[in-house]
Amino acid sequence: MKKKLIAPVLLSSALLVGSIPVNVFAQPVNSSEISSVQASKEWNEKASVPFFVKEKVAEKFSSSSSSNALNYLKKNEDKTGIKNPDKHLKVKSIQKDELGMTHVRFTQAINGVNVEGSEVIAHFNKNHELVSVNGRTNQTLAFEAVDTTASISREAALQAALSSVNAPEELTYEPTAEFVVYPFEKKNHTAYKVNVNFMGDEPGNWFVYVDAKSGKVIDKFNGLMHADEHKTQTGSGKGVHGDHRELHITRVKEENSGTKFALADYSHENLEGIFTYDATSDWDSSNDTLYMGNSAAFISDYDRAAVDAHYNSEKVYEYYLNEHGRNSLDGEGMAINSYVHMGVDYNNAFWNGRYMAYGDGDGEFFIPLSAGLDVAAHEMTHGVISHTANLAYRNQSGALNESFADVFGALVDDSDWEMGEDIMAPAAKADGVTRLRSLSNPNSVIVSNPQRAAYGSGVYPDHMDEFYNMPLNVDNGGVHVNSSITNHAAYLIGQEIGREKLGKIYYRALSVYLTSNSNFSEARQAIVQSAIDLYGEGSEEEAAVQSGFDAVGIQ
Ligand SMILES: [Zn+2]
Repeated sequence: MKKKLIAPVLLSSALLVGSIPVNVFAQPVNSSEISSVQASKEWNEKASVPFFVKEKVAEKFSSSSSSNALNYLKKNEDKTGIKNPDKHLKVKSIQKDELGMTHVRFTQAINGVNVEGSEVIAHFNKNHELVSVNGRTNQTLAFEAVDTTASISREAALQAALSSVNAPEELTYEPTAEFVVYPFEKKNHTAYKVNVNFMGDEPGNWFVYVDAKSGKVIDKFNGLMHADEHKTQTGSGKGVHGDHRELHITRVKEENSGTKFALADYSHENLEGIFTYDATSDWDSSNDTLYMGNSAAFISDYDRAAVDAHYNSEKVYEYYLNEHGRNSLDGEGMAINSYVHMGVDYNNAFWNGRYMAYGDGDGEFFIPLSAGLDVAAHEMTHGVISHTANLAYRNQSGALNESFADVFGALVDDSDWEMGEDIMAPAAKADGVTRLRSLSNPNSVIVSNPQRAAYGSGVYPDHMDEFYNMPLNVDNGGVHVNSSITNHAAYLIGQEIGREKLGKIYYRALSVYLTSNSNFSEARQAIVQSAIDLYGEGSEEEAAVQSGFDAVGIQ
């Protein structure tokens, strides 16, 4: 649930002007200011070295334990390039899958402090044989001593982070700060990774890295995952397509006001629930309530966006449960929360790290965005990703994050391979904009944002030859554009083996092999390996994956 929170750093200034009412609307982030910081920075790819070791003759262990995985890594330092693994790796999770395989995930750490983005996964087959290891490690750490003590306090880091993103007074959640080693710009920084979350015309789920020695902001990015970016225009909203929906709702008895009905679904075993809230055209989260009706029939025009959000959430939940045995976004039955009527004429939907939010659209470009089952599946898949591979939302890893969201969007909303075809308003359709992206034919869709279009051909790419080299301040390095390349690979694979197998293979790659900094090439390896695990080496499924990635130029 959202909490109203006043940032301590800003509270003091608010007290000085106590007679002015507290502004509950977030101020838009000054994007030109942010871009000047980010444009000068370069991601240090060399500090995060990818590898994938497969054993022809796998070593057999007594059990698929983390200590046996470490024993293997100690004996195989030369193969993996990880020096002193028992000193530098911490167990993060141990996961068993439906094939009987066990996956031990480690985080690289120095003096016990996690190295951002560096993870290693050791894979045992069902006979406790260690068959492969993959991941990314920072290979400079073995040679360079990193001082992991802090000179500034956590509080000082929080304040630096809040002011660097122009955080409004009201935050959605209390900011968090994690102590990490952050390899950036050829240096290993000891840093506080601060997460700042707020609403507004430009909502933020910022990750800010503050150097723990100097207190300076090293790097930052907005991890808020948009369906796409469209500026709000004035116009009137329209109701969603008139489909009849069966819903799971809850009867509520209230003092004085009699019986009401809430869009609250407690019908699924081991699931906390599926809840739909009314944001009442506001960004202010303090007075949001469950969406309520006076009867069990939610049939007013205002109800329509909520009805679709509630219905589609359940469809996506059932897809992940039935197809992949996954119980909700975190795999552990967490509540699925959606907010409708977010903002005024707001042309966007997003996953902010904790819940889905849907604007009503301006009626010109979009109708209420909850009308799209693919949009709901896309946003909820961002939630699944943040609890699995946790792909960093920038450059190629960010494009993979977007691409997996689109692929599962198209798998759940399985009538076509288009994204957003059910949320376009009549005026947009009349202009020829009939969907946001196409997995089958990316080139057929124009990149409508001119700032993004300038970095490439002007249409969505379907091959690495058409890759958009974008700086971090434009679409986080092209996450919504270059995603089309891997989207198209998925489409081609799906044409060969069908949607069900495509889903199995992609879900396995996402949940078992990919790590936060994985790039396109590692995604190919992960998806190929998943096809081999499920269908065998040399299978037609493996061949389909190989040729799908060949066709888009990803090696
Ligand atoms: Zn997205």
